[in-house]
Amino acid sequence: MVATAPMGSVRLAPRRKQRQPASLKEKSCRECGGSYAAQRATSEFCCAACRRAFSNRRMLRGANFYDLIMAMRFNRVAAADEGAWTLLCKMAAAFKAEDGRQRGGRKSWNDVPAVRARNPRLQSIVVGVNIGRAPLSGLIRGRPK
Ligand SMILES: [Zn+2]
Repeated sequence: MVATAPMGSVRLAPRRKQRQPASLKEKSCRECGGSYAAQRATSEFCCAACRRAFSNRRMLRGANFYDLIMAMRFNRVAAADEGAWTLLCKMAAAFKAEDGRQRGGRKSWNDVPAVRARNPRLQSIVVGVNIGRAPLSGLIRGRPK
């Protein structure tokens, strides 16, 4: 049974507790490398400008990677003939070298678990037959096709 408020009244959500001031943890900014007092445990950057710079560089670099990966995945023969993998590796090496020169070697990319966490729907694993699409004959015999 669902409790309802009387007509014309407004039920207010209970007031949230005031957030306790977090203990400031000293962290190193992923962009500039400077140390700062993090307000949150998940904080990675000292300021919005550093966060934007980190993201913008990834976007600019990522456009070329995207094109190469899509060609390699969906136009394999042409991509192989055109040396897509070699180009991809050379670009990655150039970006790493640029990071070394301009960013003190700080890593400019996120780890695979972070990418997985941003794409939870891509983590499903197919373990059997999709019953909704399997032909009845296949189910009756018990052998998925
Ligand atoms: Zn910074």
